[in-house]
Amino acid sequence: MALPETDTLVSYPDGATSSTGTVLHVEPLPDGRSAVLLDETAFHPVDTAWPDQPADRGTLTSASGTHAIVDGVTGGIRDGKLYLGADLPVRTGAEGWTFVVAHVLEGAVPEVGETVRVEVDAQHRAALSAGHTACHLASLALDAALADAWSKDVATDALGNPAFDALAIQRSRIVPNGSLDTYRIGKSLRRKGFTPAALADPVDVAAHANARLAEWVEAGGAVSIERTESSLTARRTWACELPTGRVEIPCGGTHLESLSELASVTVALTTGEIEGGVELVMETTATVR
Ligand SMILES: [Zn+2]
Repeated sequence: MALPETDTLVSYPDGATSSTGTVLHVEPLPDGRSAVLLDETAFHPVDTAWPDQPADRGTLTSASGTHAIVDGVTGGIRDGKLYLGADLPVRTGAEGWTFVVAHVLEGAVPEVGETVRVEVDAQHRAALSAGHTACHLASLALDAALADAWSKDVATDALGNPAFDALAIQRSRIVPNGSLDTYRIGKSLRRKGFTPAALADPVDVAAHANARLAEWVEAGGAVSIERTESSLTARRTWACELPTGRVEIPCGGTHLESLSELASVTVALTTGEIEGGVELVMETTATVR
């Protein structure tokens, strides 16, 4: 079974939740499960290097029946070998590699060459899309709320505010209708000019962020994913209309089509001491109309 030589074509950035594809390869896994590679898919896999949005849930239907896709991971192929998930040693898009969506199945697997149908759990996807759109808005609102906390010029975000989110983020996890982001305020951020005292009252910072989020949600701007081609590794950009103009953030995940789908987005901020600094956790909650 030859491994694919081109990246999987993906339709989830356009909002697709079902697709038809040809089985290119079936890789038996050490735990008895199998990874099925298709030429194209609507199934969003978790990214290895930046696993913010979890894999979709769904099924794969072939001549042998309908089977649950128990996991969806990103795979990379080099020199005739497939590396999956945690075994993938490079970031998605690295030179010299082919990147694929691996649909992990238990039990019966389809034949190579067979046409199969992928159906994604649309409700679960919609909740993750709401959570991911809310996560981007929350990061911009947090940056805005902390804009005065900097004593030096640093990189700025899509709204032109100092990029606290990008500079301090340690971990981001999208959950259904929300997200959980963890930031580290340590020596390197202080050296860049960030004043930790700005986070002395996280409830106040959250109130400022929430006021801005309420304005943005109220305005109900359009959201889209821009891309020039369909391959898994194509550069994709989240674009959103805010009252002050259009903002763009590079993003490989899935999103709502409009902020008017949301009733509210709010954040809660908590801080805690860690070795060498402070950890800030932002819990974002989206309420869908
Ligand atoms: Zn994103």
